[in-house]
Order: sequence, then structure tokens, then C-alpha cells
Amino acid sequence: RAKDEGRSRFSAYSSEHSRLIQRRLKIEALLRRAIDDELLEVHYQPIVSLAQGKTVGIEALLRLRDDQGELISPADFIPVAEETGRIIEIGEWCLRQSCLQLANWHRRFDPELYLSVNVSTRQFQAHSFNNTLEGAIHDAQIRPQHLMIEITESLLLHDNQNNLDRFEQLKSLGCQIAIDDFGTGYSALSYLMKFPLSVLKIDRSFISPDTEENFEQGIVEAIIQMSQSMNLKVIAEGVETQQQLEMLRQLSSDIAIQGYLISKPLPVDEMSQFFESSRQADTRVSSGQ
Ligand code: C2E
Ligand code: MG
Ligand code: MG
Ligand code: MG
Repeated sequence: RAKDEGRSRFSAYSSEHSRLIQRRLKIEALLRRAIDDELLEVHYQPIVSLAQGKTVGIEALLRLRDDQGELISPADFIPVAEETGRIIEIGEWCLRQSCLQLANWHRRFDPELYLSVNVSTRQFQAHSFNNTLEGAIHDAQIRPQHLMIEITESLLLHDNQNNLDRFEQLKSLGCQIAIDDFGTGYSALSYLMKFPLSVLKIDRSFISPDTEENFEQGIVEAIIQMSQSMNLKVIAEGVETQQQLEMLRQLSSDIAIQGYLISKPLPVDEMSQFFESSRQADTRVSSGQ
């Protein structure tokens, strides 16, 4: 009896295990063809300044389409791309594509709009990164000031010379550097201060916790105060409700927000429509006077 149970538990385990392996192999195969077969697309999510009451930036978020036309989430394919090294060419593609799109939106809607792009540690540290970045900026004819590079806290733990040089290169080029998912990793103040950063993005787990109700007021307030004293700008991620927006506004009128309350990430055409329709004041964010 016990033996049978053990065996069926094992086969349940091994079939789950082989399902995961199949999925992993499928993603690896898709990633190998992703650029040539045009399986990637970039979606964009607006970033809204509370003080200005309008969209001031957009974050580029990558999507992978399988052969059935289903979108695969970056949470599923980015880690695979990082492990296999594909992240370098995919990240480069995303950067070039989104810079060109930014230039288009500059012409059509707002010449001050900035673009924020996620860059993996492995991509950031690659020798080719600086050339890639300069090439993307040059070819799109945008100004480096309009490009924000999002990295994660873990990168700050590698304070080796190579890493510090890379930060200095970005800074002298004129790009902004943001720490994504801030508060979830380990970054002591002393680490933050070593690097020329411009923005902290407060992780959405503090803004809209899965446990409902509680906005992590204390943590959010502490991050905002710390940012002000370090002269860093703040973007609150994952703002889903009007109530969360009001609580943030009470903590600071000087931050920007991003989240489903404003919009989910949108394909290019829908993002254009969003700009089109927000030529009228955004009533959700304006203070209503
Ligand atoms: P991220 O950079 O922190 O991006 C924010 C994620 O939160 C996005 O998920 C976005 O759709 C989601 N989000 C935004 N507002 C809300 C909200 O109000 N509620 C909830 N529940 N979620 C919200 P997405 O697009 O699935 O991307 C997941 C992660 O994948 C990104 O997290 C980023 O770390 C990574 N990623 C996406 N594109 C790229 C890329 O081009 N390169 C690299 N290296 N990583 C990328
Ligand atoms: Mg991000
Ligand atoms: Mg992230
Ligand atoms: Mg984030």
C-alpha cells in the first residue's frame, strides 16, 4: 500500500517534472528563433507624474509570442534568456525597438516623454552594452536624457571596478539609472550612495500587497523620505486603486506612479490611442480643481 502510494506520488512528481522540462525546452527553442521569426513584441506602460498630472514616461515590457499566438510572460522567459545568454541579443533588440518607438511618439505627442527599459545584470555587464546603448540612441536620434535604464538592487552588490565604470559611462552619456523593485533586495544605504542613480522604483508589493487592504505606509514613507534626502526621484509601481493613489499623494506630491489604475502595459497601437485620448486632462490623477 505504502509502496503504491509512494510510486504514484513519484509518477505524479515525474510527470510534473517532465512537463516543466518540456516547457523549458519550448521556451529555449522559441528564444533561439525569436528575433529572426519576429516572435518578440514590446508593450508599454505609462508612468504618470502626480505634480504634472500627465504621462511623463513609459516603461518598455517585452512579450514573447508562441506559435499558437499566445503571449508568454517575461516572468517565464526572461530567466531562461538570462541563463542561456540569449538575453544579450533580446535585450538589445528591445532597446533598439523601443528607442525608435519613443522617437515616433516624440514627434506625434510629446517631445519630453522618456523611455524606461529593463536591463538584466548579465546584459548590463556585457562588454557590448555601451556600444549597443549608444547605437540605439544614435539610430533613433533621441537624447540620452530621455532614456532610463532599470536595473535591480542585486547589481549594486557587485561594486567591482568594471561595474562602477559602467555606471560612470552611463552617467557621462547622460542616461538616467533607476533601481527597479526597490525594497525587495538587499541594498544598504552605503551601497546606494556609491552609484550615480537617479530614480528608485518602489516595488509593487509595498503599494498593493497581495494580502489586500494594507498599503505598507511605513515602508513607503521611509523610502520616499530617504529618496528626498538622497536627491533621488521616486516611481511607485503597481498602483491599482484610487485609494492607493490618494495615500501616495498624501506622502508626497512629487512622485510618479505606474500601475493598472492608469493602464496595463499596452501594445504600440493602443499606447498611441492612450496618448491621443489623454490630450484631455487625465481625470484620475488631476487633483480635480
Ligand atoms: P518590472 O520591470 O518590475 O515591471 C513591472 C511589472 O509589473 C510588469 O509585469 C507589469 O505588467 C506589472 N504591473 C504593472 N502595474 C501593475 C499593477 O498595477 N498590478 C500588478 N499586479 N502588476 C502590475 P510584466 O510585464 O509581466 O514584466 C515582469 C518583469 O519581467 C518585469 O518586472 C521585468 O523585471 C521583466 N522584464 C520585462 N521586460 C523586460 C526586458 O525587456 N528586459 C529584461 N531584462 N527584463 C524584462
Ligand atoms: Mg521595470
Ligand atoms: Mg523587475
Ligand atoms: Mg518593478
